[in-house]
Amino acid sequence: MPNPYIEFAAHYTCPACAKAGTLRPNLSCLDINGEPTIIAVCAHCLVQANMTAVIAHHDGLIDNMSNQTAARDTIYSVEVDNVDAIRKQIADNMFLTDLLATKRSNLKSLVYLDVGYGAGYSLYAATERMGHVMGVDLYDDSIRNICAAVGEPTNLELKGDIAALSQPADVVILWHTLEHIPNCPEFIGALRTKMLPSGCILLQVPLFQPRAVVDVHFSFFGLASLRSLFFSTGFEEEDYWFDNENGFVTYMAKLPAS
Ligand SMILES: [Zn+2]
Repeated sequence: MPNPYIEFAAHYTCPACAKAGTLRPNLSCLDINGEPTIIAVCAHCLVQANMTAVIAHHDGLIDNMSNQTAARDTIYSVEVDNVDAIRKQIADNMFLTDLLATKRSNLKSLVYLDVGYGAGYSLYAATERMGHVMGVDLYDDSIRNICAAVGEPTNLELKGDIAALSQPADVVILWHTLEHIPNCPEFIGALRTKMLPSGCILLQVPLFQPRAVVDVHFSFFGLASLRSLFFSTGFEEEDYWFDNENGFVTYMAKLPAS
């Protein structure tokens, strides 16, 4: 690996704004696996980026897809026989639609899309309150196990790619998704083509702190870098909330009415 403190200038692009040569290596820390990791600041969008992951991804040293699916059999596995535990998890995962209900009065008439839904408890929970519910993730084993255990909702659509979705969405959920994306403007731009006018994105990401650093997290956003990303891709800011206890920021952006 080249010395990123020296050879950073034009070689790498910022995962949050996709500008080339803007990352400035800023500090070193140990990631959650004890690996030394360099954190950079982007001179354009002010995101804090995992420079070590950016370099590894750029140089083809990591396979982002297999890294992302490594959670499949561990943190996102679902025990299909444990129906009571699954029902409890679904009930405990109403918080997204609870939050949406404070912002939109007509949830039953809205098309909901969750990209990177993980285990799928909150996706399943959304089927009880929203109109049509679409989920996109790299694998769907766990949500299918949930459906097998407690019943398949008639308003649930599962896809492996946003290009395959049946209809545009009013509400897009990106819950701990954006930090995994190596080119956020490209991702948000593609997502925008699958959204209706006045549609909103509700997201949460981890703030920078060493315990959030892992090789699958490229970006640590704050308010300035989220504003840079969403304003540059045609969105307006609706609201934001800092979770000081957990070190997360929740952000809501919306598209203009036309
Ligand atoms: Zn940037």
